[in-house]
Amino acid sequence: MGTRELEGSVAIVTGGSRGIGRGIAEALAQAGARVAVVGRNGDSASAAAAELTGEGHAGFACDVADPAQVNATLASIEEALGPVAVLVNNAGITRDNILMRMKDEEFDEVVAANLKGAFNFTRAVTRGMMKRRSGAILNITSVVGLTGNAGQANYAASKAGLVGLTKSVAKELASRGVRCNAIAPGFIRTDMTDELTEAQVEGLLQQIPLGILGEVEQIAGVARFLVGPGASYITGQILAVDGGMVM
Ligand code: NAP
Repeated sequence: MGTRELEGSVAIVTGGSRGIGRGIAEALAQAGARVAVVGRNGDSASAAAAELTGEGHAGFACDVADPAQVNATLASIEEALGPVAVLVNNAGITRDNILMRMKDEEFDEVVAANLKGAFNFTRAVTRGMMKRRSGAILNITSVVGLTGNAGQANYAASKAGLVGLTKSVAKELASRGVRCNAIAPGFIRTDMTDELTEAQVEGLLQQIPLGILGEVEQIAGVARFLVGPGASYITGQILAVDGGMVM
């Protein structure tokens, strides 16, 4: 893509210090945005921000699960970079376990980070976006939120919750010029999927029509499209980017 369609805009990418979020942050930076990289570890968020293409990016330490931290971080971001045009809710964790053994903390931590975290940041940016009558919000859910997955009741529930959040935000904010969509990635090579055994990867490949695991860049390009002007008539959609796993 030769154009810089997000030139001059400010974008927040939660979980932008590693993996898919980092790839999305770079794609938005290449599109001309100034990116606020958010992660619990402020040093790695700042380091990732410093390596992005172009100028004016910054890292912020914030646990998205904590509404007070999110509100304070948004204020810092707007003070440092300006009004926010794009929010990508990408931060997420897994705490896999079979149902019988799943601890309360394992369920609660995953829902707090993956679902409540996205709610916290979305609520925080809503007032400004509504006032400016423009904005794009993108949630990173998962194919597992559409299909369910044995051993991931907590994670799948949090990701299915994001589907409902996405559609509700889309309906509530459409009349104010704010769009909200989601990407449901399949299996993408990152720290999160590094833990899979060879046998698990083999099993997965059997279920992927395109026959390969996905790369971060294959999510990032779609994210750039969905938050940009090329997607100005798309809202409330959940787009699977998964090599054909779920159709
Ligand atoms: P990852 O490599 O483990 O990176 C996770 C990122 O989120 C890190 O930057 C991490 O930074 C941040 N983070 C985690 N919890 C946070 C919190 N409470 N507050 C703020 N930041 C937090 O993960 P990934 O594989 O790139 O996944 C990114 C997203 O895509 C997740 O939502 C994941 O569920 C989703 N996804 C991934 C795949 C896949 O195959 N990889 C498939 C489907 C969906 P800190 O540790 O510094 O906080």
